[in-house]
Amino acid sequence: MNGGTAGESELDLAGQARGPLAILYRELDAAVSELGPVCRLSGRCCRFEEYGHTLFLSAPEAAVLLADAPPPVRPLDEGRTCPWQDAQGRCTAREARPLGCRVYYCDPRFDEHAPRLTELFLGRLKALVDERGWAWDYAPLHRHLREGVARGEFTPPPPAP
Ligand code: SF4
Repeated sequence: MNGGTAGESELDLAGQARGPLAILYRELDAAVSELGPVCRLSGRCCRFEEYGHTLFLSAPEAAVLLADAPPPVRPLDEGRTCPWQDAQGRCTAREARPLGCRVYYCDPRFDEHAPRLTELFLGRLKALVDERGWAWDYAPLHRHLREGVARGEFTPPPPAP
Protein backbone atom coordinates (compact mmCIF):
# COMPACT_ATOMS: atom_id res chain seq x y z
CA MET A 1 0.00 0.00 0.00
CA ASN A 2 1.33 3.50 -0.66
CA GLY A 3 0.73 5.92 2.14
CA GLY A 4 -2.02 5.80 4.75
CA THR A 5 -4.11 3.00 6.15
CA ALA A 6 -6.53 1.12 3.94
CA GLY A 7 -10.04 0.36 5.09
CA GLU A 8 -10.45 -3.25 6.18
CA SER A 9 -12.76 -4.13 3.29
CA GLU A 10 -10.36 -2.73 0.67
CA LEU A 11 -7.42 -4.61 2.15
CA ASP A 12 -9.62 -7.67 2.19
CA LEU A 13 -10.55 -7.26 -1.47
CA ALA A 14 -6.90 -6.79 -2.47
CA GLY A 15 -5.94 -9.83 -0.41
CA GLN A 16 -8.64 -11.99 -1.99
CA ALA A 17 -8.18 -10.72 -5.54
CA ARG A 18 -4.36 -10.68 -5.72
CA GLY A 19 -3.88 -14.38 -6.51
CA PRO A 20 -6.72 -14.87 -9.04
CA LEU A 21 -5.86 -11.59 -10.79
CA ALA A 22 -2.18 -12.56 -11.04
CA ILE A 23 -3.22 -15.72 -12.91
CA LEU A 24 -5.53 -13.78 -15.24
CA TYR A 25 -2.90 -11.09 -15.87
CA ARG A 26 -0.25 -13.74 -16.61
CA GLU A 27 -2.48 -15.46 -19.15
CA LEU A 28 -3.36 -12.15 -20.81
CA ASP A 29 0.32 -11.15 -20.95
CA ALA A 30 1.11 -14.49 -22.61
CA ALA A 31 -1.69 -14.04 -25.17
CA VAL A 32 -0.47 -10.51 -25.96
CA SER A 33 3.15 -11.61 -26.18
CA GLU A 34 2.25 -14.36 -28.66
CA LEU A 35 0.85 -11.69 -31.00
CA GLY A 36 3.99 -9.55 -30.61
CA PRO A 37 2.73 -5.94 -30.61
CA VAL A 38 5.57 -3.41 -30.79
CA CYS A 39 6.00 -0.95 -27.94
CA ARG A 40 8.39 1.91 -28.76
CA LEU A 41 8.07 3.33 -25.23
CA SER A 42 6.55 6.55 -26.50
CA GLY A 43 4.50 6.65 -23.28
CA ARG A 44 1.55 8.13 -25.19
CA CYS A 45 -0.83 5.35 -24.10
CA CYS A 46 -0.60 6.53 -20.46
CA ARG A 47 -1.12 10.22 -21.32
CA PHE A 48 -4.85 9.76 -21.55
CA GLU A 49 -5.93 13.21 -22.67
CA GLU A 50 -3.26 13.44 -25.39
CA TYR A 51 -4.16 9.97 -26.63
CA GLY A 52 -7.90 10.54 -26.34
CA HIS A 53 -8.87 7.59 -24.17
CA THR A 54 -9.91 6.78 -20.62
CA LEU A 55 -8.58 3.83 -18.65
CA PHE A 56 -11.39 1.88 -16.97
CA LEU A 57 -10.87 -0.76 -14.31
CA SER A 58 -12.91 -2.81 -11.88
CA ALA A 59 -12.94 -2.65 -8.08
CA PRO A 60 -10.65 -5.68 -7.54
CA GLU A 61 -8.12 -4.38 -10.10
CA ALA A 62 -8.16 -0.98 -8.36
CA ALA A 63 -7.77 -2.59 -4.91
CA VAL A 64 -4.71 -4.57 -6.05
CA LEU A 65 -3.23 -1.56 -7.86
CA LEU A 66 -3.59 0.65 -4.78
CA ALA A 67 -2.29 -2.04 -2.44
CA ASP A 68 0.67 -3.29 -4.48
CA ALA A 69 1.90 -0.48 -6.75
CA PRO A 70 4.93 1.51 -5.59
CA PRO A 71 4.39 5.12 -4.49
CA PRO A 72 3.15 7.23 -7.42
CA VAL A 73 5.63 9.51 -9.15
CA ARG A 74 3.25 12.16 -10.49
CA PRO A 75 0.57 14.29 -8.84
CA LEU A 76 -3.03 13.24 -9.32
CA ASP A 77 -4.53 15.41 -12.06
CA GLU A 78 -8.05 15.54 -13.46
CA GLY A 79 -7.49 12.53 -15.70
CA ARG A 80 -4.83 13.71 -18.16
CA THR A 81 -2.01 11.40 -17.04
CA CYS A 82 -1.34 8.38 -14.87
CA PRO A 83 0.41 8.99 -11.53
CA TRP A 84 2.65 5.94 -12.12
CA GLN A 85 4.16 7.12 -15.42
CA ASP A 86 7.73 8.32 -14.88
CA ALA A 87 9.48 11.20 -16.65
CA GLN A 88 10.79 8.80 -19.33
CA GLY A 89 7.22 7.69 -20.09
CA ARG A 90 7.63 4.30 -18.43
CA CYS A 91 5.18 2.56 -16.11
CA THR A 92 6.44 2.22 -12.54
CA ALA A 93 3.54 -0.05 -11.55
CA ARG A 94 3.97 -2.83 -14.10
CA GLU A 95 3.31 -5.80 -11.81
CA ALA A 96 0.10 -4.28 -10.41
CA ARG A 97 -1.20 -2.56 -13.54
CA PRO A 98 -4.74 -3.46 -14.55
CA LEU A 99 -6.04 -5.39 -17.51
CA GLY A 100 -6.61 -2.31 -19.69
CA CYS A 101 -2.94 -1.31 -19.44
CA ARG A 102 -1.83 -4.79 -20.49
CA VAL A 103 -3.88 -4.92 -23.67
CA TYR A 104 -3.52 -1.36 -24.97
CA TYR A 105 -0.81 -0.76 -27.61
CA CYS A 106 -0.43 2.03 -30.14
CA ASP A 107 0.96 -0.46 -32.69
CA PRO A 108 -1.69 -0.28 -35.48
CA ARG A 109 -1.11 -3.97 -36.28
CA PHE A 110 -2.54 -4.77 -32.83
CA ASP A 111 -5.78 -2.82 -33.41
CA GLU A 112 -7.70 -5.89 -34.54
CA HIS A 113 -6.55 -8.01 -31.57
CA ALA A 114 -7.00 -5.61 -28.65
CA PRO A 115 -10.83 -5.55 -28.68
CA ARG A 116 -11.03 -9.36 -28.91
CA LEU A 117 -8.58 -9.90 -26.05
CA THR A 118 -10.26 -7.19 -23.98
CA GLU A 119 -13.66 -8.79 -24.41
CA LEU A 120 -12.34 -12.26 -23.65
CA PHE A 121 -10.39 -11.32 -20.50
CA LEU A 122 -12.91 -8.79 -19.22
CA GLY A 123 -15.54 -11.52 -19.53
CA ARG A 124 -13.36 -13.86 -17.49
CA LEU A 125 -12.75 -11.15 -14.92
CA LYS A 126 -16.47 -10.39 -14.64
CA ALA A 127 -17.24 -14.09 -14.20
CA LEU A 128 -14.63 -14.27 -11.43
CA VAL A 129 -16.07 -11.17 -9.73
CA ASP A 130 -19.60 -12.62 -9.87
CA GLU A 131 -18.44 -16.00 -8.61
CA ARG A 132 -16.62 -14.46 -5.64
CA GLY A 133 -19.32 -11.88 -4.89
CA TRP A 134 -16.90 -8.94 -5.20
CA ALA A 135 -17.94 -5.43 -6.25
CA TRP A 136 -17.57 -4.78 -9.99
CA ASP A 137 -17.59 -0.96 -10.03
CA TYR A 138 -16.02 -0.63 -13.49
CA ALA A 139 -15.00 3.04 -13.56
CA PRO A 140 -12.26 5.42 -14.78
CA LEU A 141 -8.87 5.13 -13.08
CA HIS A 142 -9.04 8.65 -11.67
CA ARG A 143 -12.37 8.00 -9.96
CA HIS A 144 -10.87 4.98 -8.18
CA LEU A 145 -7.79 7.06 -7.30
CA ARG A 146 -9.80 9.97 -5.89
CA GLU A 147 -11.72 7.51 -3.74
CA GLY A 148 -8.41 5.98 -2.67
CA VAL A 149 -7.22 9.43 -1.59
CA ALA A 150 -10.45 9.96 0.37
CA ARG A 151 -10.00 6.61 2.14
CA GLY A 152 -6.35 7.39 2.92
CA GLU A 153 -5.05 4.55 0.74
CA PHE A 154 -3.39 6.64 -1.93
CA THR A 155 -1.06 9.58 -1.42
CA PRO A 156 0.15 11.14 -4.67
CA PRO A 157 2.97 13.69 -4.60
CA PRO A 158 1.78 17.31 -4.37
CA PRO A 159 1.57 19.35 -7.60
CA ALA A 160 4.76 21.23 -8.51
CA PRO A 161 4.76 24.79 -7.11
S1 SF4 B 1 -0.52 1.90 -14.53
FE1 SF4 B 1 1.29 1.97 -15.83
S2 SF4 B 1 0.64 1.20 -17.85
FE2 SF4 B 1 -1.22 1.74 -16.70
S3 SF4 B 1 -1.69 3.85 -17.32
FE3 SF4 B 1 -0.43 3.95 -15.44
S4 SF4 B 1 1.71 4.18 -16.16
FE4 SF4 B 1 0.44 3.45 -17.88
